[in-house]
Amino acid sequence: MKDYFGESDLESKDIDKVDEIKKQLIDKEIEIQHLREKLKQEIEKREQTEKKIKEIKNAWKIILSSIPDGIGYVDGSGKWIYANDTIVKNLELGQDYSGKTNQELGNANDFFKETYNYFDDCNNRAWESRKILREEDSLPQRDGSVKIFDTIKVPFFNEDKSKNGILIVARDITTIKESQLKLKQSEERYKKLINAMPEAVYVLDVNGKCIFSNKAGARLAGIDNPKQLRGMDYRRFLSKDYHKISQEKLNKLISNKINKTVLLERKFVTINGELIDVECNSIKYKFQDKDAVLILVRDVTEKKKNEELKIRVEEKTKQLNEIVEYDKAKTEFFANISHELKTPVNVIFSAVQIGEMILKEHKCKSKCSIEKYIYTMKQNCYRLTRLINNILDISKIDSGYCKLSIQNVDIINVIESITLSVVEYAKSKEISIIFDTDIEEKIMAVDVDKIERIILNLLSNAIKFTGKEGNILVSIKNQDNDIVISIKDDGIGISEEKQKSIFERFIQVDKSLSRNNEGSGIGLSLVKSLVEMHGGNIKVKSSLGKGSEFIVKIPVVNVDKEELEVKYNDINIEKIGIEFSDIYFN
Ligand code: ADP
Repeated sequence: MKDYFGESDLESKDIDKVDEIKKQLIDKEIEIQHLREKLKQEIEKREQTEKKIKEIKNAWKIILSSIPDGIGYVDGSGKWIYANDTIVKNLELGQDYSGKTNQELGNANDFFKETYNYFDDCNNRAWESRKILREEDSLPQRDGSVKIFDTIKVPFFNEDKSKNGILIVARDITTIKESQLKLKQSEERYKKLINAMPEAVYVLDVNGKCIFSNKAGARLAGIDNPKQLRGMDYRRFLSKDYHKISQEKLNKLISNKINKTVLLERKFVTINGELIDVECNSIKYKFQDKDAVLILVRDVTEKKKNEELKIRVEEKTKQLNEIVEYDKAKTEFFANISHELKTPVNVIFSAVQIGEMILKEHKCKSKCSIEKYIYTMKQNCYRLTRLINNILDISKIDSGYCKLSIQNVDIINVIESITLSVVEYAKSKEISIIFDTDIEEKIMAVDVDKIERIILNLLSNAIKFTGKEGNILVSIKNQDNDIVISIKDDGIGISEEKQKSIFERFIQVDKSLSRNNEGSGIGLSLVKSLVEMHGGNIKVKSSLGKGSEFIVKIPVVNVDKEELEVKYNDINIEKIGIEFSDIYFN
């Protein structure tokens, strides 16, 4: 047999040995084969494990980089080992941050230098405390804004207690913080609003105890500080008559049987026991997450008073309307009666004038006394005419029918003529009249007839209330845009108290039956109305026993510049007779 070595014819001993070796070789080969198999399996297994580890690593990387929170790891010497995308982005770490310290990073980034230093401080604190460190960190941003992070730092130590590293987990809470701030601001605004409300606002718990009151609520209750109301039962501030009904409403609100109350009228009792009329409105409400009732209370004392006042005003207005109606009827009656009186007076006056004429042509013994009677009749006809005219004018003014008949006239000439025409009358009473003016001529638009009435009235009063040897001064001044006419006497004067009322209708200072002069008390009120119709005013200056001065101020206006001024002819003597009829001339 030829063996492997090509040798044959070996001894049997050797052959056995060879066989033995062969067998061993085959066994070894099987063993190697086996080991190879095992190795192959091991390699495959390892490859799979490595693949898995790679997959897990990738998954972690994806997870860590997709987490919105920042996650990082710094080793025991302060070198960055890992930072997820959020940290890299927010701290501008750059892609080659690994192995760098905060200081190194700070040297390369001026803007974040302070932030990196701050992080080093935080890390040191975590190392020192050897505990988890949780802080709110503010990170200034390049756009000027600031981001706030809720940061957790977990220090890790080796078995020999040396530093291993710090795990950093940071959550951006800027939006939460902003919302919290806005919420706080809105809560404060809401608080301010509630406190600024004029109505009292109370919040009661389900047992009717006050858990909140605004300032107005405390004020209404008569308490300084709203906090003092806390814990007080609402019934303490409610009149007993309403306890039952209000409790029923409260129960219904709390058990959701009704969701709000309509406006209810109640009597509020202050801490001092004072009763106040109020209106209340209640609604179920959540206060600090608990069921509660919100009550709005309004003090309606003023409203009630106003309502009462309104009723009274309405009553008074009704009464006033009735009076006005009555007054109107009275005025109409006066106007009618005056008209009715005028006709017989005219008839009597004409008869007197005829009698006068006849008497002039006849000579008879008793002529003198007849003349006296005729004078008295004439004088009284004038007086009646004056009274009737005045009542008629006042009625016309009251009913708005009195209109001015305006024309351009030289006012100085008008007043001077009137004054001069009464000089003789005054002389017979031993009173002298002086006329004075600071301008020679003033053309202005007035109702001449009314001006005559004004001046004659004032002059007649001046003569009436000035004794023998008295003096009257009529003067005119041109003041700014007004003409000021003064009629001043040194007669009996008017007391200060009476001066206030002489322009009122039917006012006479001397009301005694034995008074020296006649009069109806209409004259000055009519004068005032006529002056005011011209847009002017009248004042009196007087002192008892020394004399009086009536000052009439009339604004200078012209009707139409083109229109020629009207020439004023002397005053009709009859007018003087009428206006002076209250004065007895001897
Ligand atoms: P009467 O027609 O009664 O004179 P007036 O309205 O003209 O009414 O005047 C009212 C009252 O004012 C007069 O009764 C008189 O008491 C007082 N009075 C008016 N003018 C003068 C005066 N110049 N001097 C003193 N008293 C005067």
